[in-house]
Amino acid sequence: MSDVALAEIQSKVAAAARRAERDPSDIRLVAVSKQQPLERIVAVLEQGQRCFGENRVQEAQGRWPALKERFDGVELRLIGPLQTNKLNAALDLFDVIETVDRPKLAEKLASAAQARGASPSLFIQVNTGEEEQKAGVAPTSVDAFVASCRAMDLPIVGLMAIPPVEEAAAPHFALLRKLAERNGLQELSMGMSADYEIAIAMGATSVRVGSALFGARNKPA
Ligand SMILES: *Cc1c(COP(=O)(O)O)cnc(C)c1O
Repeated sequence: MSDVALAEIQSKVAAAARRAERDPSDIRLVAVSKQQPLERIVAVLEQGQRCFGENRVQEAQGRWPALKERFDGVELRLIGPLQTNKLNAALDLFDVIETVDRPKLAEKLASAAQARGASPSLFIQVNTGEEEQKAGVAPTSVDAFVASCRAMDLPIVGLMAIPPVEEAAAPHFALLRKLAERNGLQELSMGMSADYEIAIAMGATSVRVGSALFGARNKPA
């Protein structure tokens, strides 16, 4: 793989930041490596990228322990649903969990964090489109959910959303930002390959870019 894709995305991220009068170093590029062949991931690591997102615990377990041995300073983020039976595996592997989406998961994370004396940084996933099939807390429940997570001492740093595919993303990004601001949360994980520049204009602090960086994914097994 050539270096072109990573360099191009980095420069588009920086340009979008400058257009929004933001500091480019305030925006984290999360390279979404799910369902990508190992050699593409290694190539991006060799080019210096260190922050990666995976959506399945099991797939990530299959390759990231070895990659973390081989490359220093990797930050791995879980960006897909977390079942409580995979919680300990996820805590062993992920530095950030972006998909805290229900009270039961928050409770299990809190007791695991207490037992381990540590917790990954956490984002709450918000179902901004209120789609039935999609994970995430309803916008009207965010304030109460943030408060209950804080009461359990969970390190909630921000909000994450995946807008409905068939709608313009901008209103969803605006809603997520409003919810974060009124809850005093600094981090906004929003924007994917098709719309990360819009997300940066609207305040994203991390963008999750998969196919634009790595190329088309393999079909899930
Ligand atoms: C797959 C995925 C992405 C990346 O999507 P692309 O369109 O390939 O950039 C971002 N966020 C989440 C939650 C994903 O599951």
